[in-house]
Amino acid sequence: MSSLPAGERRAAVVIEDDLDIRNLVCAVLEQGGFQVSVAATGREGVDVVRQQHPVVVTLDIGLPDIDGYEVLRRLRSTTDCYVIVLSGRADETDILTALQAGADDYVVKPFRPRELRARIDAMLRRPRLLPAHPQAQPAPPAVAAQGPSAGSGPREGSDTLLRNGNLVVDSEARTATCSGAELPLTKTEFNLLHELMRSNGAVRTKEELVRVSRGGDYRGYNFVSRTDERAIEVHIANLRQKLARSEGDPDLITTVRGVGFRIMPRRSAPR
Ligand code: CA
Repeated sequence: MSSLPAGERRAAVVIEDDLDIRNLVCAVLEQGGFQVSVAATGREGVDVVRQQHPVVVTLDIGLPDIDGYEVLRRLRSTTDCYVIVLSGRADETDILTALQAGADDYVVKPFRPRELRARIDAMLRRPRLLPAHPQAQPAPPAVAAQGPSAGSGPREGSDTLLRNGNLVVDSEARTATCSGAELPLTKTEFNLLHELMRSNGAVRTKEELVRVSRGGDYRGYNFVSRTDERAIEVHIANLRQKLARSEGDPDLITTVRGVGFRIMPRRSAPR
């Protein structure tokens, strides 16, 4: 991966005020084939992300100006890139606050470089078919040429569409729409919704969904903690809120107490 020419490498941004940690994270990402930009403050980080359009952002919480949660809120108004919070605070509350603000994953400091690398690899393992990042996975030419903004709404007759009521999930374009309006989902929220829709009403356990949020088979990191499961609950709560705000059905995703979640099958012609 690291042999890719600079111009073809995916961008990553490291927002971290501690020089040693910043250099460590940079090294991990560069070894992973990323073109890395850095920022030592929150405001600078927001600017750099807007300029670089990264695939992945690593974000410290304790920053000298605005904190990582505020950075996350600002980023989430303009980007759906993967955001991994690297935090020295191991409290469940801190972790959940980060996830509620739109983080896809968190790693508690101190961390092993291998763990960070594994988590980033796992997140990216799911194919991204958007033309901005063609090297993530070879995209079919039709999709690469078309782009995410081409056409309005899902393509009729395509077998990549999953439907339930007024909700349509397009596996290929990685979009979800409610009555034609696109839901502003993070990558992790999309992955979870896609998995539940694909399961067609079958229950998915929290443990299974943790693995989905990590990007499928998560080699070397199979342990699922209680905090990981709580993270899934937060992502699902965020999904429900977004469904509710977009004229979707907030009760679509049902909690199966003590087990996990499932999608309630709805008629295709809503209301
Ligand atoms: Ca810090």
